[in-house]
Parts: sequence; C-alpha cells; structure tokens
Amino acid sequence: MEMTFQPILDDAKKRPIVIAGPCSAESEEQVLSTARELAKDGRVDLFRAGIWKPRTRPNSFEGVGTIGLKWLKKVKEETGLKTTTEVANKDHVFEALKHQVDVLWLGARTTVNPFSVQEVADALEGVDIPVIVKNPINPDLKLWIGAIERIYKAGITRIAVIHRGFSHHGQTKYRNVPRWEIPIELKREFPDLPIICDNSHICGRRDTLQKVAQKALDLNFDGLMTEVHPDPDNAWSDAKQQITPATYSQLITDLILRKESTDDPVFVNHLEHLRHEIDEIDDELINILSQRMKISEAIGEYKKENNIAILQSARWGEILNRSVAKGKVKGLSEDFMNVIWMAIHQESINHQVKIMNAKAKGVEK
Ligand code: PEP
Ligand code: MN
Repeated sequence: MEMTFQPILDDAKKRPIVIAGPCSAESEEQVLSTARELAKDGRVDLFRAGIWKPRTRPNSFEGVGTIGLKWLKKVKEETGLKTTTEVANKDHVFEALKHQVDVLWLGARTTVNPFSVQEVADALEGVDIPVIVKNPINPDLKLWIGAIERIYKAGITRIAVIHRGFSHHGQTKYRNVPRWEIPIELKREFPDLPIICDNSHICGRRDTLQKVAQKALDLNFDGLMTEVHPDPDNAWSDAKQQITPATYSQLITDLILRKESTDDPVFVNHLEHLRHEIDEIDDELINILSQRMKISEAIGEYKKENNIAILQSARWGEILNRSVAKGKVKGLSEDFMNVIWMAIHQESINHQVKIMNAKAKGVEK
C-alpha cells in the first residue's frame, strides 16, 4: 500500500525525537514530579506514561486507568510538555481524546492482533492525532506494516513507529532481542516513516540502556523512548529498567549525534570509493555463488545417475561445522555463518531437485 507520512511533532525537523516518562502512571505526585524534572532538562519532546497496562500475568498492576489521564492533562498545563499514552481498544481511544492526550501509541501486544488494531483504527476515523505503532512482540514485519496500514486507512498520516525488540525463546542479554534488520527493512520500505527506539523494553535493565540508545542513533533512528521514574527500584511496573530523571539527562548528554550525510568532498569521495569496493565484492560473491550452484547441479546429475538421495545429512553437518569454524577465524559470527550457510544449502538443494525433475521428465518422453 502507498503511504505518505507527515511528521508527528510540530517541529518537523527535530531529531532525535525524545520521549520519556514512567512505564506507568502511579500517582499524581509521581507523574508530576517526573514531568517537572524532564521539563527542566529541556530536551524532551513528549512525556509518556502508561495508563492501562497490558501485563503478562493477572494480579500484576494493570494501570491506574482514566484518573491518570487527569494527571497527564496537569502535566501539560503545568510543564508545557506534550503527552502520550498507550491505547489498546476503542474506550481507551475515546478517554484519551477526551482528556486531550497529544499522541497515542499502540503497544506490542496490540500490534500483534489485527482485531484490536482495527478497533483502535475505527475509533480514530476522522480524528487528527499522531499515532505511534510499536512493533509486534514476534519478529513479523508484515504484521507491523499491517498495523500501520490499518491506522493509515483510518485517515491518520502523522505516524511513527517504535522498535521495542522482539520476544525470544531462550537466554539472551536483552529482555526483547533487537533484531535490528527488521526495523532497518521497514525504514528501507518507508523512508519517511520516523523510527523511534524504545531502549527500555529492549534492554529490560539499566546498565545497557546507553549502548542500545547509541546503537539506534548510529543506525540513523529518528528518536528514543525511555522509561524514567523518580524512584525506579520501587516502580509498580518494569522497575529493573527504569532510571531517574538525573540518570536520564546524563544518558541524553552522553549520546553522540551523527549526521546522516555531509557535503564535504573528501568524505564523499572516500565513501564513494569504499562503496564501489563493496559493489565489486558483491558482484564477485554473486559469481562465486552461481558457480557453487553449477557444481551442485553437477552433483545432482551424478546422484541421479547413481540413484542416490539428494540430502545427505552427515555431509551437510560437515559442511556447516567446517564453515562456521572457518568463519570464526575470519571474524564472522556463528549466527551469521549459520544463516548464510543454511540459505546456501537450501538453494543448492533446490538446484539439485530441479536437475532431478528435469531428468525425470526427459526419461518419460
Ligand atoms: C510500555 O511502553 O510500557 C509497554 C507496555 O511497552 P510494550 O508494548 O513495548 O511492551
Ligand atoms: Mn514498561
């Protein structure tokens, strides 16, 4: 679907877009004291606070509900900060609009469900408000795009997305693994769609927040959303990942902002040279892969003549182990080698199958 997006902030050029505030609104005092500190910092564009909290288990704190919206309104009146909150159904949308929340966001557990996204989209029909769409909890780019399309079809054009990582089976250092290639692919498809990194939900802990925020900026993300709480250890939700306003200010100060491009001719020339080298190597890679497939086809013919099955697991295991080990010596990660060699192996099998089928048809004639 063709989509053209408009900026979510009045200052269309503001980069990075900075969003901060507590995971959850807990009390008027907690909300206002956080907002006052963040307003003092002066670099925050949007104040966030969860009013309705989607929790993994029941009996956890599920948000203060509508009363918290009055506190957000006070934040705006008192500090001038614009506000944003998560909406997951039509009632949330109506309540948030009634209390003049400035920007709405869809959480990861909503984006994952087209019924919920559609309900929110229907409630937004004819309303002019920016909406931010978090990625679905599972690494499914189509589902993410589908949610953006549903919101867009409701007439909303001020849209941004938030990358908050993806749930993952097994142990990792992240709460939600970033899988950076997914938001990067989204950006490739929709270059004018701002991408904001939620480092809090990716990290799930405080000590890696800076690194992930910097990585997002290095990857040319358009902004950051970070959870900030006056007393993080005693937060009612996501205590482990929240930081104080003072720590947050330091985090923003320590970020290195990089330019997307420059006109400096020496830089441009050198970059062009390096890019040319990459193109040459890519051409070589394609030639080599094509040669490899031709050899696979020859093996396929030979196996066919001798009536041998295409897949020989022991041989495949040998190839993979050998390649992963060799790659390691050359500084290529095991994950990368596994992905690349699985793909090469699958393509080889496809070529061999093609040879076998072509032969079989020849025999039938
Ligand atoms: C949140 O932002 O507090 C939240 C619930 O995030 P997510 O939807 O990314 O889990
Ligand atoms: Mn949270």
